[in-house]
Amino acid sequence: MVDNGEIPQINGVALPGFVKAHGHDHESPIIGIAKDVPLTTWLDAAVNLYTGFLHNEEESLTNHFGRSPYLITYLKARVDDLQHGITTALVHHCNFNKYHVDELVEANRLAGTKVVIAVGSQDRHYDPRILDKPADIAIKRMDKLYEKYKDTANIKIIPGPDQFFSNSPPLLKALKNWAQKHNTLIHIHSSEEPATTKWFTKEYGITPVEYGHSIDFLDDNTFVGHQVHNTENDLTILAQTQTKVVHNPLANTILGSGMPPLQKFKEKGITFAISTDGSGSADNQNILNAARVAAQYQKAYHQDATLMPAQDVLERITVIPAQILGFNTGTLEPGKLADITVIDLSVANLTPTREENVIENLIWAANGNEVQYIISNGNLLINNYQFTSLKIQELLRQVQELSEMFHEYRQTKIPEMATGIRERK
Ligand SMILES: [Zn+2]
Repeated sequence: MVDNGEIPQINGVALPGFVKAHGHDHESPIIGIAKDVPLTTWLDAAVNLYTGFLHNEEESLTNHFGRSPYLITYLKARVDDLQHGITTALVHHCNFNKYHVDELVEANRLAGTKVVIAVGSQDRHYDPRILDKPADIAIKRMDKLYEKYKDTANIKIIPGPDQFFSNSPPLLKALKNWAQKHNTLIHIHSSEEPATTKWFTKEYGITPVEYGHSIDFLDDNTFVGHQVHNTENDLTILAQTQTKVVHNPLANTILGSGMPPLQKFKEKGITFAISTDGSGSADNQNILNAARVAAQYQKAYHQDATLMPAQDVLERITVIPAQILGFNTGTLEPGKLADITVIDLSVANLTPTREENVIENLIWAANGNEVQYIISNGNLLINNYQFTSLKIQELLRQVQELSEMFHEYRQTKIPEMATGIRERK
């Protein structure tokens, strides 16, 4: 509280740096592409086409920009995070990106953020160019990356098989064994949208969760993305195995995937965080907005305004994901890392704010871009709205140009069909 004379006014509020528990840095330049279509169509027409573009054109793009197009893409993602107060993220590094962990580590170093890199894998129902066959290719990749980065500050390497449908039981078991041996989390997309979940259940005779449980994949170090579509048995398994979930309301609503039963998660004691997902599906990294949409949906769906108050959803973008990801952040107290996001409360949309309604105003009235200062690991990354760690103007110019080039490329290509949708039809 600052006494500026006549009127008491709060200028800003210091919060723990926000923790984004599920996202994809490779999607940062594909906002607004292939909208109004379901998940698999969007994957094939936007994400897989874009990563295919980077893969096919890597050499010429690197020559053109003077640096890797992967690095440009990942740096933009770090900017998107910081702009919205996110200092820590789990990056699910899927498809071709699994070959480009070095560029992500470099982007994170330059930005001064912290990332858990869930390194992707798949050995079926996917683009044949990236299938991990034999399965020990994926394990060797994990070994190599773990050795390389185990002592690197602000980096954690974990297995991140893309989907249950794209990873066979032997590969999933091998990756889970790897995670147990190295005492790490394992991360995977699960039951995200109706068509794939139905197809999976028909094809394999059990739900993705039952399938994961049948091969001992689920435990308290397993962290699944989405988990929108659940049977009662799925919920019981998730609770009993203490599997954690991350809910991504922006992507789930834009792609028409549905929304997970968060009240049932709560009743069963299933721990869940709230996140944005990648910028391609969510179209932004506004994590305060993600928290708001999560709360609004549940209140409206259950016709109960008392559900998911502001404090509850704020904890699901700070303390809860920090605990899940194993970072010493998420709260502001002695002994924690200096990881602080300061939100400017002097902007018009947050005036008036009083001490007793700061949290309500953050969730219900903030635009999400009132991030005036960020300190991460004790370093000032945003100083009065200015990035100190990254050269923004040059980066944004390159991202715009990359987007124009991708647009040209898209005109000449059919969707990559990398998600196995052809097989499923
Ligand atoms: Zn995702």
